[in-house]
Amino acid sequence: MPEGDSVYKAAAKLRAALDGQILTRTDFRVPAFATLDLSGHTVTSAVPRGKHLLIRVAEGTDGTTADAADTPAPANASDPGSGLTIHSHLKMEGVWQIYSAGERWRKPSYLARGVLSTATKTAVGFELGLLEVVPTASEESIVGHLGPDLLGPDWDAELALANLLSDPARPVALALLDQRNLAGLGNVFANELSFLRGVRPHTPIGEIADPKRLVALAFKAIMVNKDRPIRNLTGLPRGKPRYWVHGRRGEACLRCGTRIESDQLGTGPTDTRYMWWCPSCQK
Ligand SMILES: [Zn+2]
Repeated sequence: MPEGDSVYKAAAKLRAALDGQILTRTDFRVPAFATLDLSGHTVTSAVPRGKHLLIRVAEGTDGTTADAADTPAPANASDPGSGLTIHSHLKMEGVWQIYSAGERWRKPSYLARGVLSTATKTAVGFELGLLEVVPTASEESIVGHLGPDLLGPDWDAELALANLLSDPARPVALALLDQRNLAGLGNVFANELSFLRGVRPHTPIGEIADPKRLVALAFKAIMVNKDRPIRNLTGLPRGKPRYWVHGRRGEACLRCGTRIESDQLGTGPTDTRYMWWCPSCQK
């Protein structure tokens, strides 16, 4: 399941393939942007913000638009005032894949939501939960509500802690999942961090001992995993479980052998999550 570490890796992959390149073809397979054509635009960056991915493009950096002597200089590619942002959210199954020109796609074409081609590479966003194009200047309307980003330059552990504790009755897993508190954690991290801190996902966040350590652990866990090709919270070698509890209902706890339990947690259809825990290791 894509979480902040997945989005971080996706952004790095997109930057490596597209940064500084001119788009030769774009295809947005969502009704609102089906007729939009960004060919001729230059990709200026791909930035992860929590679980949101922002691909920024700018016009007029390839010299083709500045044809008259009295035409103002092309806007700086990094100037957010003139650019557009291709905003995507991976949600449950989304992924961006990079292909060389002419290479066969590894996923069926009907799952593609966004296609961005340069002379040599094509980036295809499959099964994106959300795809839209907005002025870069209004990115704040998309990501402005996010709390400090665990993998971003704005990371602020103290602010994240204060946000988490602002609603002390909230179950710890739901507090960690709330992107307004801190950005980047999804269900896997919420479950695994609860296990690693020895608390059940349902425990009110205000009742856990030393919540500062929870925030420090969240940072450490996602930092380590941002550079791993496959997320692994146990540190066990390939073939062994990579999660302590997530998705392991009925299996033996790797620490004590007790059967892992699971349940739903949440208050409504949009806030319901599956939680897993060891009834012995987590109190
Ligand atoms: Zn256990």
